[in-house]
Amino acid sequence: MSHKNEHNPAVRRIVLPSGRMIEVIRYQDKPETGTRELHICPTCESQLVQPVAWSDAGDDRWDLTLECPNCCWTETGNFDRQEVEILEDHLDEGLGEMIADLQRLTHANMIAEIDRFGAALEANLILPEDF
Ligand SMILES: [Zn+2]
Repeated sequence: MSHKNEHNPAVRRIVLPSGRMIEVIRYQDKPETGTRELHICPTCESQLVQPVAWSDAGDDRWDLTLECPNCCWTETGNFDRQEVEILEDHLDEGLGEMIADLQRLTHANMIAEIDRFGAALEANLILPEDF
């Protein structure tokens, strides 16, 4: 199963929770033919599928319970190392983006707080007894 760009299979467009769309270019050193992409929901095609439970099934295979946060699709299955590693790559990418978004949000909140503090000082609304 694949939902990759038809013209260039190495380019993947991902819509982040923040609404921003990014293009991820993958340089593949091995063909993925026949390998299912576990991060893609088979029901709604969301790329945010994540494992909610996993266990080592031995023999380089893993039992995973996958869940789509978008449509609540869920599946438990047994997957090979390559499938799980590809899923991990996507989770790492998602985590990196979330941390970057969080840092931008924290920065924006700090600026807003400093602006409010400055305005309150200007208006003489902050007095020594506030501290
Ligand atoms: Zn879904």
